[in-house]
Amino acid sequence: MSRFFTEKYAELVPYTPGEQPKDQQYVKLNTNESPFPPSPGVLAAVEAEAKRLQLYSDPESGEVSRAFAASLGLKQSQVLATNGSDEALNFAFMAFGRELAFPDISYGFYPVFAALNHIPYTEIPLREDLRIAAEDYEGLGKMIVIANPNAPTGLCLSLGEIEAILKANPDQVVLIDEAYVDFGAESAVKLLGEYDNLLICQTFSKSRSLAGARLGFAIGSEALIRDLNTIKYSTNPYNVNRMTAAAGLAALREDFYYKENARTIMENRAWTMAELKKLGFAGTDSRSNFLFVRHPALGGEALYKKLKARGVLVRHFKKPRIEDYVRITVGSREQMAVLLRETEAILKEAQA
Ligand code: PMP
Repeated sequence: MSRFFTEKYAELVPYTPGEQPKDQQYVKLNTNESPFPPSPGVLAAVEAEAKRLQLYSDPESGEVSRAFAASLGLKQSQVLATNGSDEALNFAFMAFGRELAFPDISYGFYPVFAALNHIPYTEIPLREDLRIAAEDYEGLGKMIVIANPNAPTGLCLSLGEIEAILKANPDQVVLIDEAYVDFGAESAVKLLGEYDNLLICQTFSKSRSLAGARLGFAIGSEALIRDLNTIKYSTNPYNVNRMTAAAGLAALREDFYYKENARTIMENRAWTMAELKKLGFAGTDSRSNFLFVRHPALGGEALYKKLKARGVLVRHFKKPRIEDYVRITVGSREQMAVLLRETEAILKEAQA
């Protein structure tokens, strides 16, 4: 810390992103990226837009916002385009966070954004089976943040359970982070008409293969989105760059490609889980583009390190209750075959 860093942030422990190694080519299954490249229309749109980079981007991200809203049956005024959904989360915390509650095991950025914005927070323990129990979130008197599916467990709440949380907290914003919703969970978007306290975040980073472009959305009532715009225009009016907005619009036009890819990921997930079970693994019933698994004979950290030494990168969290697990992004069938081959060899080695 330099002697100029303000006391305001002296205690801040920043978020640690998943490794992005440059030393060698890994089978990269650690940051839940898509194994599929963006669709051809996205590449063409980005190239065309690059010719206009001398001009600022549209501060409203109008075209992509209208198209995204229309895809959900909503108005443009009910969505806000952001620089990845991380920015949507931060704006929401800034706008609505007096006190916060979120699960003790969830996306690691929630406590960081809370600390950044000096918002006190309570972590609600997951139940023994790593599930979020909706009744634990009733009448807390705090803004609630829940990833659905949750990360890194991949487990979902039903729409009925989310509705119960919304009903039990009518005077608090309930933020549902749907980063992984396209891999088998049910979106809360259909509840928007009934609950003015519902705010949703979605991202183009996962199912739409645009992690490197940074595009996310906040989705909510016109009033909530107006508040988020107040924050946005006080932070970074041109938060979505021209090439990203063009990429997002093109991706929406080729939605069939991304839906097909999501189906493939779900098939690969089921196949990989079945194969891992044959090797003695147990795991959660993930509805995300990752698996969360453990093996009785090998700790999570040991497995992570041994896989890394063999060129396969997965994610391990040094956190009580989940340190036995690794989180494995579901990639292509070929990537999963390498993961399984190397895992089997590691287990054989451990038994020998
Ligand atoms: N929410 C969750 C639960 C995530 O895992 C991630 C990805 N790390 C994000 C939000 C943010 O993703 P992005 O900023 O790429 O949209």
